[in-house]
Amino acid sequence: MPNRRKTPSAVETSVLYASRRRCCLCVFLDERDEVRRGQLAHINRDPSDATFENLVWLCLDHHDEYDSKTSQSKGVTQAEVKKYRDRLYDRHPEATQKAVVDSKEQDLPELVPLPPRSEFESVRRRFPKDLGFMAEPWRYPLWQVANQPELFAFKSGNGSDGICLIERIDLPDERIVVACMSVVGNPGISITNAVEDICFQVCERFEIPPDRLVWLEHYEDFDDEEWDMVTFGTSPPQGPFSNPTWKTMTPQLWKSLLLEPKKQLLQEHRHYQSKLNKLFYWPTKNLL
Ligand SMILES: [Zn+2]
Repeated sequence: MPNRRKTPSAVETSVLYASRRRCCLCVFLDERDEVRRGQLAHINRDPSDATFENLVWLCLDHHDEYDSKTSQSKGVTQAEVKKYRDRLYDRHPEATQKAVVDSKEQDLPELVPLPPRSEFESVRRRFPKDLGFMAEPWRYPLWQVANQPELFAFKSGNGSDGICLIERIDLPDERIVVACMSVVGNPGISITNAVEDICFQVCERFEIPPDRLVWLEHYEDFDDEEWDMVTFGTSPPQGPFSNPTWKTMTPQLWKSLLLEPKKQLLQEHRHYQSKLNKLFYWPTKNLL
């Protein structure tokens, strides 16, 4: 069984929100202003001090560098990290203000985990015909419907499987846009940190040719209108999707896709409605 994942606290969410998953050292030291895979670091190196003021989002490389004791003499100092972090936050003062307020929200108490039990697994093994299917990955519908984003359950390499919302749009020039949206309640890894895994699973499941794919990413659960286009340095058949690069969507980029994002994700007849306006003829019948 994978380890229980600690529910992200209001503080953690606030740090992710204020930093927009940018590593402040990457942004200001390496001029790398993009979403990075990373981790929360404690600026004063005291893990028990998990306040908004003491936390910072660092990419994995900078996190390692900052955490390793040996490099402390010549490495980045606490004061420097703090300065760069604040400079990053200052670029979006309203978001930072909101993050500070949200970080003070009290976390709900986590229920105490019950001791492990063996009877469920042993019964499942003894009754493979009746219960064997439960060990298989979750199965989701094979069809995709125009203008109807669907929930998608994905596996993650780090064991923190999650869900997201997927919408497919076939462009007139044969490219296929897949909009991957993070939704409230995703219990697993973020759609940014698992982008290679999710992309592989969606493309394989729906047989989307990698050379026609346009992958878009959006956080529907954050109060943020940003969309990113993700491209991969490597994609099938060369190898698994890897080396992702995020590019914030601009009006020009949207225009090149003949799409524009809607402000709100709406529901109708118990289905999500499309999150993207199409500036071309678009059917509403089944896609596959
Ligand atoms: Zn970094």
